[in-house]
Amino acid sequence: MTTQHPENTKPADRKVVLVTGASSGIGAAVAARLAAEGHQVVAGARRTGHLRALAESTAEAAARSGGGLQPVRLDVTDRADVAASVQAARDLHGRVDVLVANAGVMPLSRLDSLLVDEWDRMIDVNVRGLLHGIAAALPVFAAQGSGHFVTVASIGAHQVVPTGAVYCGTKYAAWAITEGLRQECDPSIRVTTISPGVVDSELADTITDPGAAEAMRAYRAHAIGPDTIAGAVSYALAQPADVDVNEIVVRPVRQR
Ligand code: NDP
Repeated sequence: MTTQHPENTKPADRKVVLVTGASSGIGAAVAARLAAEGHQVVAGARRTGHLRALAESTAEAAARSGGGLQPVRLDVTDRADVAASVQAARDLHGRVDVLVANAGVMPLSRLDSLLVDEWDRMIDVNVRGLLHGIAAALPVFAAQGSGHFVTVASIGAHQVVPTGAVYCGTKYAAWAITEGLRQECDPSIRVTTISPGVVDSELADTITDPGAAEAMRAYRAHAIGPDTIAGAVSYALAQPADVDVNEIVVRPVRQR
């Protein structure tokens, strides 16, 4: 996969990118990589200490390429918070070119465990969080006459597994919402879904159900690194303005 490298991101190709869920895993890798490639990244999540550490560890590479990484406290379940983050990016850089809707949680369990609060949390973060991002960025992209939505969905947007009914349901929804957005959007706005397989991150830490946690240990044994997913995002961003990468599915070769 050809992706941008710091030395070949021309100033005209540098973008202002808001990444949600940038405090760990895939979001942190996306934010760090894009900043190192010369983009101005606004990195949002609730754990601002993690974001500050990411900004520090990225500063040198970002400075070399003309990029940057600015932390912003963000809870995607709060519509006003998401709107404020988009506005923060505009205040800092005058525009927003890309929204990477990545924030997600995955407290897997069988439905008969009745962990209803966890179902609600997945719907709030994985679905409502995405919708809040669209609501905040769509008018901005329309007014600018350009923009790019990148949704981090999942292999779980394509197949359901036991303990994954609600999580996969939220990812099917994320896939459908993003595809609907693509069909409705003006051609000046690009829309991409990235569907990762098993990636090394903190995602499985949100599982409280002991059976689901045990099953996940074997399932996640062959995880690939989050920078691979960052590379897929970078690839989608780097295409010419008239090219829309609609979906990229990336999984470990060992994952069936
Ligand atoms: P991590 O748990 O490492 O990262 C999840 C990120 O989401 C964190 O930065 C967390 O930040 C953020 N987040 C959670 N809740 C909220 C919230 N309410 N508001 C803002 N940010 C929030 O997991 P991954 O990196 O793996 O997950 C990233 C995305 O990738 C998710 O959408 C996940 O479903 C998807 N995915 C992951 C796969 C994998 O195997 N890892 C496979 C397929 C898809 P904080 O807690 O600081 O707010």
